[in-house]
Amino acid sequence: PGTLYLVATPIGNLEDMTLRGLRTLRECDVIAAEDTRRTGQLLKHFGISKPMISYFQFNEAKRSEEILQRLARGEKVALVTDAGTPGISDPGERVVQAARSGGFRVEAVPGPCALVAALTASGLPTDEFHFIGFLPHKSGQRRKQLEAVKDFAGTLVLYESPYRIEKLLNELNEIFGERQVVLARELTKKFEEFLTGTPVQLLEVLKKRALKGEFVVLIGQNVEIGAGK
Ligand code: SAM
Repeated sequence: PGTLYLVATPIGNLEDMTLRGLRTLRECDVIAAEDTRRTGQLLKHFGISKPMISYFQFNEAKRSEEILQRLARGEKVALVTDAGTPGISDPGERVVQAARSGGFRVEAVPGPCALVAALTASGLPTDEFHFIGFLPHKSGQRRKQLEAVKDFAGTLVLYESPYRIEKLLNELNEIFGERQVVLARELTKKFEEFLTGTPVQLLEVLKKRALKGEFVVLIGQNVEIGAGK
């Protein structure tokens, strides 16, 4: 029987591609990619040439069927997304569920994940955390979702677009108040940095310089970093 491999890919630094990930990409029959052009560049960098099919948010149902047919024929299918771990705020969940209920083998080939990199290096407690992915775009829905997780005792982690960081910090200020927030920016890349402060302090930073790139936002309790719970 075939196997579905979930292969994590770099979130910036190409050196983070794992040896097993590379071997899996080399040895599989087909690569299902979120964006075949993006993955094509990665494959080219590592000197791999392999047939690809696209698997993204809006063709997940149809492509899942096709992937299942391939698994039934005994093929090895590697699923990758543009960056990081498939299934984490990225396509993947659906085909994994379908493959598992079809009785096929599913293997994780772990590696980079922005959520884990940000959390573990943030200085905030890692023993309990709640990941909420991307917030909706509409203000009312965002507020509702933030209100719903406000009283969580561990570290909250979310992904946010650089265009909405200021909006988010204003919302955090209103809803959470004086909490410790960490902005983990451009992880594994040249301009990686961790900015720590209350929402108000971080808004001050934002006034002084534009913060571009990719962000993970972490929200801790109202304690000094390192002071524990
Ligand atoms: N599946 C990916 C993972 O495992 O992290 C996440 C995919 S999601 C579509 C992309 C979001 O992840 C970005 O908007 C950003 O919030 C976060 N992200 C990805 N790469 C990052 C990086 N190098 N530094 C900071 N955040 C990053």
